[in-house]
Amino acid sequence: MEKRLRLAPSPTGLFHIGTARTALFNWLYAKKIGGKFLIRIEDTDFLRSKSEYTKNILDGLKWLGLKWDEEPVKQSERISIHKKYIKKLLECGAAYRCFTTEDEISELREEQKKKGLPPKHDNRHRNLSKEEVEKFISQGKSSVIRFKIDEKIQIKWEDQIRGEIKWQARDLGGDLVLSRRAMGYEIGDPLYNFAVVVDDNFMNITHVVRGEDHISNTAKQILIYKALNFKQPTFSHTPLILNAEGKKLSKRDYVTSIDEFRNMGYLPEALANYMAFLGWSPKSLEHEILSLDEISKIFDLSDINKAGAKFSWEKLNWINSQYIKNMESVRLSEIIGRYWDEMSWEPPSKEWSIKLAILIKDSMTLLKDAIDQSKPFFFLPPIQKEGQDFLAKGDSKQSLKLILNFLIDKNAVKLNQEKAREIINEISKMHNIKKGVLMKSLRVAFFGSLSGPDLIQSWELFSESKSDILRIERCLKLI
Ligand code: GLU
Repeated sequence: MEKRLRLAPSPTGLFHIGTARTALFNWLYAKKIGGKFLIRIEDTDFLRSKSEYTKNILDGLKWLGLKWDEEPVKQSERISIHKKYIKKLLECGAAYRCFTTEDEISELREEQKKKGLPPKHDNRHRNLSKEEVEKFISQGKSSVIRFKIDEKIQIKWEDQIRGEIKWQARDLGGDLVLSRRAMGYEIGDPLYNFAVVVDDNFMNITHVVRGEDHISNTAKQILIYKALNFKQPTFSHTPLILNAEGKKLSKRDYVTSIDEFRNMGYLPEALANYMAFLGWSPKSLEHEILSLDEISKIFDLSDINKAGAKFSWEKLNWINSQYIKNMESVRLSEIIGRYWDEMSWEPPSKEWSIKLAILIKDSMTLLKDAIDQSKPFFFLPPIQKEGQDFLAKGDSKQSLKLILNFLIDKNAVKLNQEKAREIINEISKMHNIKKGVLMKSLRVAFFGSLSGPDLIQSWELFSESKSDILRIERCLKLI
């Protein structure tokens, strides 16, 4: 039988890291077992669902490389089917109309609260006669449909992550509401716990993998599977993502939508790689930098932890920096080029951009670090105090003059690294000046300070952008 997994996001907000991690685990496991990864948009909360959120979720999945295998299913298009099944449950007596008003429910809650009891419906309309139902309807009362829960039973399932889970039916809050309020003999719009079962069955879902906050829903859904005589999928409940203090991750932790990670300068493959480790710990692992395909080969639901997974910016940053370091230089230069475009910085050539990308990539953690790291190559830097102090000492100012004269005399333009090295060697020998002094002086002229990227590689770039002579002249004028 074909193995089928799904992500069932509600488009009531931007694509969040928790949903993205659930998507990733579903995708990885689908690949691992040769199954399919599907999407169902659960858009039946008409007040909160927005098509821009659906777009944001699908765009985010694509960006992360989590391709789905079939056209996404829209839950809102299936409401009439859900209602058909509710009708079936009504007809066989597994469900009934409940006319309890909102006020009556609040009253019941108050009473329970006073007694220190958890909220639970008292199933007061479970056994209404046909005449009583008619009477309520003729009085113009609205009703929901409730599913009868047998309080005596225990619900059990073998969770693929947590092992056996048992739930007492009496702890499920009373008979389960299947649909929203409606007037007369109408059936209102179906609610999550019912629609999800009908749709998972329709989509032939074989494995449900979702967050641990759905454990009590699973208990309810199993009862509906049984009542409708549907084949039950296997269930797996993934751990929550926690902040550094061990609390559920929230907006206050600055971890929000996948978009924001993208805007912050994280690479999709780095974020996906990192997210896989949020709760998954394989038994043996040689290294942690792995592509999704590599992870899918070793991934298993049984290696997902039960305990919450702590979100770590440090680890995410480290993984991102590894991806930047190892990235193919043309691709990196194109990504960096987009940042330059935004700043209206114009590189002299494509080759120059590639060389600069190679030069700065080791000092980048986020893609946007490219702005700070490449800025000195586009703009003349201020000469800082340490630079001024250095040039005030010994042969350093003289060194700059010698290099400048050499460049002008020899009409040395468009230097490569070898040529640049030769110039330093030659001047050092000719004038008996230490190479270190020549290089440090040049560094001050180029960067305004004594730190910065590799000098010879930088010189090649400054030479190509015709800014080496300019920088030396300017520095000599300033000091
Ligand atoms: N729409 C539900 C949610 O976003 C789906 C849960 C499930 O996977 O069944 O939480």
